[in-house]
Amino acid sequence: MINIKNYINGELIEPVGQTYIDNYNPSIGKVYSYIPDSDERDVELATEAALKAFPSWSVTPKDERSRIMLKISELIEKNLERFAIAESMDNGKPVSLARMVDIPRAAANFHFYATAILHYASESHSMEDTAINYTLRTPVGVAGCISPWNLPLYLFTWKIAPAIASGNCVVAKPSEVTPMTAYLLSELCIEAGLPKGVLNIVHGYGHKVGAAITVHPKIPLVSFTGGTKTGAEIARVAAPMFKKLSLELGGKNPNIIFADCDFDKMIKTTLNSSFANQGQICLCGSRIFIERSIYEKFKTEFVTRVKQMKVGNPADKDSKLGAVVSKSHMEKVLSYVDLAKQEGGTVLCGGHQVKLEGEFAEGYYIAPTVIEGLNYNCRTNQEEIFGPVVTLTPFDTEEEVLMYANSTQYGLASIVWTENLTRAHRVASNLHAGIVWINCWLLRDLRTPFGGVKGSGVGREGGFEALHFFTEPKNVCIKLK
Ligand code: NAD
Repeated sequence: MINIKNYINGELIEPVGQTYIDNYNPSIGKVYSYIPDSDERDVELATEAALKAFPSWSVTPKDERSRIMLKISELIEKNLERFAIAESMDNGKPVSLARMVDIPRAAANFHFYATAILHYASESHSMEDTAINYTLRTPVGVAGCISPWNLPLYLFTWKIAPAIASGNCVVAKPSEVTPMTAYLLSELCIEAGLPKGVLNIVHGYGHKVGAAITVHPKIPLVSFTGGTKTGAEIARVAAPMFKKLSLELGGKNPNIIFADCDFDKMIKTTLNSSFANQGQICLCGSRIFIERSIYEKFKTEFVTRVKQMKVGNPADKDSKLGAVVSKSHMEKVLSYVDLAKQEGGTVLCGGHQVKLEGEFAEGYYIAPTVIEGLNYNCRTNQEEIFGPVVTLTPFDTEEEVLMYANSTQYGLASIVWTENLTRAHRVASNLHAGIVWINCWLLRDLRTPFGGVKGSGVGREGGFEALHFFTEPKNVCIKLK
């Protein structure tokens, strides 16, 4: 059993309170390591370390910061297999997915911001011969970074990398449900020679560690990814303290399929956008709207293919779905299937726990589930389920489907399938979402703005948006005469 440690002031240390939380491997339903049950005392130590490191790190030349971050990126790549297995064991996702997506992306996050910072420039505004203004962009200080369990290292590093690239020091908290790869990352940071105190990782519960970061008076900026309810709580605490906030929250994304789409491409990608990572990606398209003329064709083909998706041991090459992240999450997802039935839905496939054999018998597996016959505005179609459950709804007109798509409290991502270019542009501009994918899904260029509208969040990550967030602009105006 591994005892995970906090990473504070360059060292791996025990939590002050010396207590630990059980860490489950969801694929077998058993405890396999222990997580520090840290509290505000550990956050205080981490903040002190970050404050002490800040004066030096904030003036360390960009080239040097970049060099260390590139080293971290290289080390993640070198440890790809070990990290992929660890991520799968902690989260339940297929090892193949962690190997192809999660871990390479974590390395890419460091690589991207290590180089982005070298190209980051600020503006100047000339007032002809009267004056010249220039904008200084300086690091803010100690940044709080709080991340969720669904893409553990991927999202954790998506915050840390721009924060330290722009000269901040960080107090970070990974999800207590999936802490392992953040712990492994702290070992790599030591190996890469990241100066002590630049990054501090405090493990533990949200209501203890996360809340202590949010309320800490010396942490002027919080970057959070997680549920909408938690985001609201963080905003409630942080807003009166005038902290800078970036909130990446929940989603209930529409996948809109017009009859003129490229059917084969669409069906292949739709299997992925529905069930990748067991449907536990904030960008999954869980509400599928299909133009009525191809509804039956879509339903038949889709359900046939979903039934063929293997749910199994995450280490097996042919497992398309692994375990969901925890027992309580499995129960929550299955309770939504019951709700859907009560709301008049018909389960076309799945809708139940999958019991595997042998050592996996106690794992948290759910069959990929497709439901039809629900109103667009019922709870099943309005609330985030965050599991392998999608609903099918036919539509007749573009106006109608836009109304369905925009009807939730969320507005993170949307997917549109059509070969009609004019319609693609028109629908994209009328969707209330921060991201629209046309004829694709999860195609990511790290330079693009990433985030949502309405209950899906405030602010944008990605590219220079994140560097803007992690720096404070100051205008200097010089009179010329
Ligand atoms: P969560 O909100 O329960 O937890 C997220 C993080 O916040 C965890 O580290 C948790 O410990 C911490 N936390 C909990 N309570 C806190 C508090 N009071 N103060 C400070 N921190 C606290 O979310 P989750 O269940 O881990 O993740 C799933 C959610 O994340 C889904 O809603 C999903 O849509 C969302 N998500 C959004 C994005 C995005 O980019 N918009 C990406 C991934 C996941």
